[in-house]
Amino acid sequence: MKAFPVPAFRLLLAATPLILSSCSPETPPDAQADWILTGGQVVTVDEDFSIAEAVAVRKGRIASVGSAREVSALQGPATRVVDLQGRTVIPGLQDSHIHFLSLGHDVNYEAELTFAMTAEEIVEEILALKDRLDAQPGDWLIGNRWDQYKYPEMVTRWQLDEVTPENPVMLNRVYRGVAVNSLVFEMMGIRDNDPSTWPSWWLEDPPDLTFEDKIFREPRMLTIDGQRRELSIPTGAFVGSRASRLVARPGSFPGSGGGARLVGSPDEPDPFEIDVQSVHLGALEMLSLGVTSIVDPSSRFGHNMRVYQEAVNRDLMAGLRIPAVYEGTFFNEGLPEMRDHLDGIMVNNLGDSWLRWRGTKFYADGGAGTRSAWLSESFSNWEEFEGELNRGIPVEASNDAREAQFRVAALEFGWDLHTHTCGDMAMRQTVDLYMEIMNEIRAGSPEADLRWSLIHAYLPMEPETRVLEDMAAYGIIASLNPVFHWQEGSAFLANLGPERFARTKPFRSYIDAGVMINSGSDYPVTSHDPWIGMYALTTRKSQADGEVYGPDETIGIEDALRTYTINGAFLTYDEDDRGSLEAGKVADLVVLELEGIHRLEEDPELLFEMKDRVLLTMSDGIVRYEKEGVF
Ligand SMILES: [Zn+2]
Repeated sequence: MKAFPVPAFRLLLAATPLILSSCSPETPPDAQADWILTGGQVVTVDEDFSIAEAVAVRKGRIASVGSAREVSALQGPATRVVDLQGRTVIPGLQDSHIHFLSLGHDVNYEAELTFAMTAEEIVEEILALKDRLDAQPGDWLIGNRWDQYKYPEMVTRWQLDEVTPENPVMLNRVYRGVAVNSLVFEMMGIRDNDPSTWPSWWLEDPPDLTFEDKIFREPRMLTIDGQRRELSIPTGAFVGSRASRLVARPGSFPGSGGGARLVGSPDEPDPFEIDVQSVHLGALEMLSLGVTSIVDPSSRFGHNMRVYQEAVNRDLMAGLRIPAVYEGTFFNEGLPEMRDHLDGIMVNNLGDSWLRWRGTKFYADGGAGTRSAWLSESFSNWEEFEGELNRGIPVEASNDAREAQFRVAALEFGWDLHTHTCGDMAMRQTVDLYMEIMNEIRAGSPEADLRWSLIHAYLPMEPETRVLEDMAAYGIIASLNPVFHWQEGSAFLANLGPERFARTKPFRSYIDAGVMINSGSDYPVTSHDPWIGMYALTTRKSQADGEVYGPDETIGIEDALRTYTINGAFLTYDEDDRGSLEAGKVADLVVLELEGIHRLEEDPELLFEMKDRVLLTMSDGIVRYEKEGVF
């Protein structure tokens, strides 16, 4: 195994003995707790959301929850007792939708652009990354999650060139987009002053671009054959999947090592090995935020599953659970290809709650940020953007064709269905087909336990779509990504208009209608910090303007926490084993520097500090992360 650098600040500390107290001699040795956390506010997230004083852990499970006195009955000579001093304990969090493979690599070796609100701040982040990595000439500098809607002006390659003349820069948009500096164009063989090197798309859009695509251009004075000419040329920013494909990726330049040179061998980066190492670093990152389990909705024909399996074999998961990896990401494959695929490499429900292959993912449409969600009413400002009414892009407009695909996955192979649906049309089509197939399954086996979901589920346009009613009646789950409301607020506002934006992700309406909702980040599209997700759930504020969109649709911190704990466990059929702190369940828990969970309702801005207020994370009764010098 190759050595790889783990930054010192991410190293897990060995579990050090905390406060040792005297034992109660009456406790029989076989009942003695390994751990007792006492004197705090233990948020159980049980049915009544009761708050206890103490919790005992034994052999990886919750042995007792209750008053300090009750729990102390399990104290023995070897019990490690933590005096919480009024601090808060919650169940380990679950991120129910995260494309996890690149996280560990990204947080350690790439720039986070989520908090940049101007082009200048993007440039500052790249400069900071260059310093942090001590980048040498030729090293790639990579950043993630820009969004042109958030800035007065989108960053240009000429701004980036000033701080990175010798480093190729590649900045990934939140979703479907990329921005590069001039060196990347040079590496592609394009020179500003030499028209013979210009690709066909340099001055004019290629004919195959869709609604969502945009190549940013700006007028520049160029010297061509000794003549000064002003021409509108690419600024380096591209939006949309087709436009983005015009730019070469780091890995496509031989010998450069691509963006992966910082892990593995510089000369020969091994993508599989890089992913395995990234999974390890990513697990440490999530545990440090209080997340003890994740759902990865993309196995990409088994690739993710092979990476996770390797990480498990080498004991690199660090105590993070992956109770479901969805297979598929089916677009418009023919049925024979789908059958081959499902038959050839997959076994549904393989594994256990540490790593399990379960469920399959389909796409019904695009997104609201790229104006490709499938809507019943056009996107706003269509005159300016597309010049004609734009109701988005269905992946499979034909119900019959989509139904045939669902039937193969659900009926022939017995997989749960999880479908990316952003617009109301996508939601309605998917729910209609789910209902039909569910009816058929339940006609044969009335007790069938089907936990199918709509992923994103942004725009139920009630009362017209009546989709909430049907979701509740059929037990169809909404897997939401609350961070979008905050981080992508400006894009949603521009593309949907204020009224529709206020109705997106209607957290309160979902709960009131009886629809089960859970929360996931959809990283790398948005921040993986679950506490920002809770900020969005409880405030519905947009990052760009600080305004609240849809105040009636906020939920309290109790419901917000449920979406990240017990409701997530329900999605993966684990609610009897995980998701709340109750006797008999696994000991996945988090200690917070916080005097009671309701402090987060009184002062929601505290949620931005929570990533630094996670003091200890335990899974299966083992300390997986501990903040230095706290206990
Ligand atoms: Zn996703």
